[in-house]
Amino acid sequence: MDSVKTQQNSIGLDVPDFINAITELGLNGSEVCIHSSMKSFGADIKCGINGMINAFLGQKCTIMVPAFSDIYEARPVSKYMPAYNGTGDYSYFLEKTETDIAPFDITSKEISAEDMGIFSQYVLHDEKSVRGNHPLNSFAALGNSAQKLVGGQTHKNVYAPLKQLCDDDGYVLLIGVGLDVATIIHFAEQSAGRTPFIRWAYGKERNVIPVSTGGCSKGFGHFNDVLSGYAKRVTVAKSDWVCYKATAIVNVCQKYIENNPYITHCGNKYCDRCNDAVHGGPVLNNSFWD
Ligand SMILES: [Zn+2]
Repeated sequence: MDSVKTQQNSIGLDVPDFINAITELGLNGSEVCIHSSMKSFGADIKCGINGMINAFLGQKCTIMVPAFSDIYEARPVSKYMPAYNGTGDYSYFLEKTETDIAPFDITSKEISAEDMGIFSQYVLHDEKSVRGNHPLNSFAALGNSAQKLVGGQTHKNVYAPLKQLCDDDGYVLLIGVGLDVATIIHFAEQSAGRTPFIRWAYGKERNVIPVSTGGCSKGFGHFNDVLSGYAKRVTVAKSDWVCYKATAIVNVCQKYIENNPYITHCGNKYCDRCNDAVHGGPVLNNSFWD
């Protein structure tokens, strides 16, 4: 990977700048789920992305990032095609071209880099990183609690790492990005009683297996106002860092979703995922996962 290309200007960011931000937000020693845009700094990162990662690890943080990997998505098979699955008539998925790739395992370094961002890519590629066992929506983590955070993730239990983050009183940190990328709000949807959507991947014998995934998150900015009282903020060069306790996001969003399910809707009346999420998500029979 090339070093990150950011707009060159007079500010060059180095490890102490990141340590200051981490300390100001009170993140030292904590578990932190990070969503980020390196472009948001509008400045040169002199220490490189690895220097930034080491700033967190040096402050005894365990960092976790989304490491989603669309490349492993398979075409659906009829027994795993429930109603209200955010898939419309399924034609988009049935017609999808598939790549000839070996089934996912936790040593894979495949990541949908454009969506996940370069910081996530660097965390995943670190030789010490630990990856959750989910073909499409895995998390990757680095630091003392990495295994504890992502070790419980399975194809059925996509948000186990976010539940663990809550149980451990960890944080969600948005680095120059908005709530529309905060995966933890999908966990709040699940906590409010919604069933996560079903997508498909290959199992070890190249059999198609169902996997739990999130839906559309374009409407999650609707939570900005109700979460603002829980946010701590710092600015690093031109990048706004916004930090929340994971439990605050989940508890507040869950309550608002229960009171008004439409709060998560992106506003596009043709969005199958949002329409079906408001309805409660896919309807799975009792033997679905057997
Ligand atoms: Zn939507």
